[in-house]
Amino acid sequence: MPKLNSTNPEPSSDFIRNIIAEDIKANKNDGKVVTRFPPEPNGYLHIGHAKSICLNFGIAAENNGICNLRFDDTNPSKEDVEYVESIKSDIKWLGFDWSDRLYYTSDYFEQLYRFAVQLIKKGKAYVCNLSSEEIRKYRGTLTEPGIESPYRNRSVEENLDLFERMRAGEFEDGFCVLRAKIDMSSPNLIMRDPALYRIRRVYHHRTGDKWCIYPMYDFGHCLSDSMEGITHSICTLEFENNRPLYDWILDELEVECHPQQIEFARLNLSYTVLSKRKLVELVEKGHVNGWDDPRMPTLSGLRRRGYTPESIRNFCDRIGVAKRDSMVDMALLEYCVREDLNKQAPRVLAVLRPLKVIIDNYPEDFVEELGALNNPEDPSMGTRKVPFSRVLYIEREDFREDPPKKFYRLAPGREVRLRYAYFITCVEVVKDEQTGEIIELHCTYDPKTKGGDSPDGRKVKATLHWVSAAHSIEAEVRLYDYFFTAANPSDKKEAEDFKDCLNPNSLETLTSCRVEPSLKKARPGSRCQFERLGYFCVDSVDSSESKLVFNRTVTLRDTWAKIQKAQKKK
Ligand code: ATP
Ligand code: MG
Repeated sequence: MPKLNSTNPEPSSDFIRNIIAEDIKANKNDGKVVTRFPPEPNGYLHIGHAKSICLNFGIAAENNGICNLRFDDTNPSKEDVEYVESIKSDIKWLGFDWSDRLYYTSDYFEQLYRFAVQLIKKGKAYVCNLSSEEIRKYRGTLTEPGIESPYRNRSVEENLDLFERMRAGEFEDGFCVLRAKIDMSSPNLIMRDPALYRIRRVYHHRTGDKWCIYPMYDFGHCLSDSMEGITHSICTLEFENNRPLYDWILDELEVECHPQQIEFARLNLSYTVLSKRKLVELVEKGHVNGWDDPRMPTLSGLRRRGYTPESIRNFCDRIGVAKRDSMVDMALLEYCVREDLNKQAPRVLAVLRPLKVIIDNYPEDFVEELGALNNPEDPSMGTRKVPFSRVLYIEREDFREDPPKKFYRLAPGREVRLRYAYFITCVEVVKDEQTGEIIELHCTYDPKTKGGDSPDGRKVKATLHWVSAAHSIEAEVRLYDYFFTAANPSDKKEAEDFKDCLNPNSLETLTSCRVEPSLKKARPGSRCQFERLGYFCVDSVDSSESKLVFNRTVTLRDTWAKIQKAQKKK
């Protein structure tokens, strides 16, 4: 299968891919590669998950292997089918396919139960009646060994009986747990008799009320991997300490397939948070308008904002995979979408904050259709016509009555070019008598400059975008800034609570923008470049035939290039 990423012709290489290449060479697992992406259906996927998806599905595709999608649904109180559905559609949107290999840990509940019984029979697990608080106290610390539970030496028969009664619902929630019998003085706290099963009377979105005991992550995950024949179980660094437990369970149960757990550093991205717990909080407390709010780092938010799947895959490719935690600059993600849209987004003219311009010497009721390029970078994208007439709109900030130095745009007496149209010169400024606000400009045009070319080599220093007042259509435009004011909102030095760093100006809504008439047919989700203003996307939720709404995906300023340059200088 070819690699999906198009702009990076070199196949990726990293420590995980190196391990797998070695394994294939040594014919480990008969040279097969089977990976999985194991989301918990307790929230929408974010850009950090995209890193894991690209890694797991990517590695499988590169090695003629397969990658399963497995919902790790062992914590029903936080899970929901809405999340299951969104996760499936986000992965497909990203461009990956699990074919018919959609699995749920809950499908394995019966087998997992039998594995637990097997451990009990081996004398390797016991039912413990300590409260969760007592268990914590008995666990000890990094410097002190733990204390063995008084229930640790229950007989196999007693344990089997109690575990069966746990399942049968004879005990209240929290009355007891099943624990692995490992080593209460292990230097690794996770190995000090970890819990494997707990009692939870919670309705499960797939198994309903069938179960009142649920396996813990550490027990369910390794065995699900094993049952699916996973060869390489790739997860994030926080599970490094859990690896001995992963291996212990599989060794004790002598399963046929013992996958290799490999940890990598999770993605951290500046000016946002990538923790589902925090994202859930933002949604539930109404700090955003849902999971797909274009300010959210979720895949649904990025999609609504205008990000393409290609740009996200390229981003994941560029950041690579490492063993050490780091923070990736948001500017790189923006660079990736800019790079992609630069190639494929048609250019259009739009004015965000309109200022009326009357061309005094242009005939009234006359309209010209001027030719404009759809993408100067790519002539194959063709041309279109834009109407020009006597009354136009230009961008308010493109005019200054008292232009400061280096302001080359329109000013009284000054000549500028209107993109694809004519040279115009400002001859009069009309203001509101009461407020002093500029209401309109009067200009003259030079008919000999049609198309924006000067016939006599006369130079102008600025080219402005514009629309015809009568022909343009009204639109709402939403401009976004960073979601947080701190580069690392989760850093306690920045703020006690990450929500204190929310940027109050992360959304600016402009309601009386004017866009060129060709956008009348723009479909929800379609993308374009407003010349000089950035890349925009028709909002897929709020836009309709009677009201056009655009989201700005990203500006045209390449801050990433600047950062790179500055770093090279150092
Ligand atoms: P969060 O920390 O956001 O709550 P999670 O780890 O609980 O996420 P899961 O649904 O368990 O979310 O994640 C599924 C997979 O995605 C896991 O293998 C996890 O390691 C990986 N993953 C989650 N967050 C990131 C991230 N920021 N970077 C890379 N991989 C991630
Ligand atoms: Mg998790």
